[in-house]
Amino acid sequence: MARIVMKFGGTSVADLDRIHNVARHVKREVEAGNQVAVVVSAMAGKTNELVNWVQSMPKVTGAKASFYDAREYDAVVASGEQVTSGLLAIALQAMGVDARSWHGWQIPIKTDNVHGAARILDIDGTELIRRFETGQVAVIAGFQGVGPDNRIATLGRGGSDTSAVAIAAAVKADRCDIYTDVDGVYTTDPRIVPNARRMKKIAFEEMLEMASLGAKVLQVRSVELAMVHKVRTFVRSSFDDPDAPGMSDPLNPPGTLICDEEEIVEQEVVTGIAYAKDEAQISLRRVADRPGVSAAVFGPMAEAHINVDMIVQNISEDGSRTDMTFTVPSADVDKALQQLEKSRERIGFDVVQSETGLAKVSVIGIGMRSHAGVAATAFKALAEKSINIKAITTSEIKISILIDGAYAELAVRTLHSVYGLDKS
Ligand code: ASP
Ligand code: MG
Repeated sequence: MARIVMKFGGTSVADLDRIHNVARHVKREVEAGNQVAVVVSAMAGKTNELVNWVQSMPKVTGAKASFYDAREYDAVVASGEQVTSGLLAIALQAMGVDARSWHGWQIPIKTDNVHGAARILDIDGTELIRRFETGQVAVIAGFQGVGPDNRIATLGRGGSDTSAVAIAAAVKADRCDIYTDVDGVYTTDPRIVPNARRMKKIAFEEMLEMASLGAKVLQVRSVELAMVHKVRTFVRSSFDDPDAPGMSDPLNPPGTLICDEEEIVEQEVVTGIAYAKDEAQISLRRVADRPGVSAAVFGPMAEAHINVDMIVQNISEDGSRTDMTFTVPSADVDKALQQLEKSRERIGFDVVQSETGLAKVSVIGIGMRSHAGVAATAFKALAEKSINIKAITTSEIKISILIDGAYAELAVRTLHSVYGLDKS
């Protein structure tokens, strides 16, 4: 017997038939003798519709600007998940499975007060655990909790993943199964590289890099939580036949396991290639080389909520002036340039240059910690394809390379193959 949290995303609960199919997956796990909590997303497209309604209301009323109360946004947008939780509970009951729905506040899942992008602070799992022991399935509305103001708070888009992992940690589940419309985590985006392989296992840290760098299988926050609380997390498909053999096999379920690196016996040097398009580069030429300059550059970026990524600063030739380059999402480049102009005096630079339409391609693998030459292999492979490298950053387990966006797909394919990740 195990205690498991099962999470189903929007496409898996897109209509009543699919919700019925989800109920079959849940029933299978119950019949295998497991204690089960289920976390559901809103039906596909529902959250977008709700967000759109909220954003359109000020236009209809003619309110100034497009202001709306974020607490009311949450009141509206959280309803999508609430609908699914009730429908799934009904489907389960019809199949003879004892189940009830839970909204975030009923558990309660306590969050901070950042409405629309709240973080979970605490989950009281007592009542859920008590009911597990009676055999009842908890069907929990994802994406939501209750803030210190006692009002519903949502966790940001994609937040149901985070709900599921947080609940798994709170009830000390043996694992968290994320059912989605793909059957696992791939070595890279299979739409770009048809030869991409599904991984059996990936370490938390690698998955965190993959998710942060553009693989959209899981909300980044959920991976952070899984890593901190060591929640073994499976990514698997809800479209598999619920009753196919091996579906409840605790040792070898179909899908990709995200786990502690100790659990991965055959560690490969490189496990995946991620990419992010729509990056922009900003370069400050002849910046004063003195203490406080970086703070003067990046403070205003943080104030404007601009997510700065790669930062490269040259060693100054004469000890007085240097060059500094960094990347931001293309959408933020104008805002970033304005911020720099505003702080021009304080920073002290000659010219600022920018370029949009770039891509960042990253090679990821914890095996890099103990292997030399991984970066050289990437540079050589890209050179052979005449792809020019604009900037490079590295960490212990990843190498990120900034290139012209037009070459992104070629670069991903090239790197995927040079590290032997192609399916044989
Ligand atoms: N329904 C929410 C969204 O679409 C949360 C989720 O599905 O994870 O962002
Ligand atoms: Mg999702």
